[in-house]
Amino acid sequence: VRLANLGGRAVVIVRGSDGVDLAVDVERASGGRFSADPQRAFDDWVGFSAWAGEVDSATSGAVDFDVRELGAPVPRPPQVFAIGVNYTEHAAEAGYPADSLPVTKFPTSIVGPDAVVELPSDVVDWEVELVVAIATECRNVDRASAWNHIAGLTIGQDLSERHVQAEGTKPQFSLAKSFPGFGPTGPWLVSVDEFENPDDLAIACALSGEVMQNGRTSGLIYTVPHLIERLSGILTLLPGDIIFTGTPAGVGNAREPKRFIRRGETLVSTIEGIGELETRFRQ
Ligand code: ZN
Repeated sequence: VRLANLGGRAVVIVRGSDGVDLAVDVERASGGRFSADPQRAFDDWVGFSAWAGEVDSATSGAVDFDVRELGAPVPRPPQVFAIGVNYTEHAAEAGYPADSLPVTKFPTSIVGPDAVVELPSDVVDWEVELVVAIATECRNVDRASAWNHIAGLTIGQDLSERHVQAEGTKPQFSLAKSFPGFGPTGPWLVSVDEFENPDDLAIACALSGEVMQNGRTSGLIYTVPHLIERLSGILTLLPGDIIFTGTPAGVGNAREPKRFIRRGETLVSTIEGIGELETRFRQ
């Protein structure tokens, strides 16, 4: 199942007979059983995904769409976590020890695919990340059953302003990652059952056509199940929460010389089995 947000309405993305992706309006096709609000899909993810898995592109009013009309697939997550250092080579380049505990990314930073983001300064950095969305309210989940509590996966960019990050007497990662538009996500949420191995996906990003990051999610130091166990051992995870799981090596702040995003540039992020997330930066 692929859940997307087409102009603010929940849609299921289906493959048409000619292989082109089409959108099925959730509220209309379900006769009102499920809400038009994409965030409400998490009210009953089990029921929703079972229904959505049966949607037929031929009979459900599937329509063409432009990816530029898509919003964030999880538009109003109650809580947004961002794991700071979770790939060995990124830990080395960042100069921090690996850490399974997150910072908060404030939910107002979340936007969808093809967002145009305002750069607040000339030290904004990229971090492509696998993003997981929580399916059910949970606490004290063990690693073995953690995937059962995950609705699906999407691509995220954990954009970071490196000056704010270094401000004050302790690092301000949460604020540095929460300017408007600093959380591009999408293009859709892909349910866990669609992946042969959700623990091993190619992940990459390119800035203005130059490949900056290229890794595999099997390189995560703390796996997705481990993160769910650790977080839910402390607080309650809520349906529709999202977790940015950490970025592989290749961020701009660690380069010599440093390289940051410039006005007018385009960032393209890809994850195997999900697709491509494009973010543009205002001229
Ligand atoms: Zn990050």
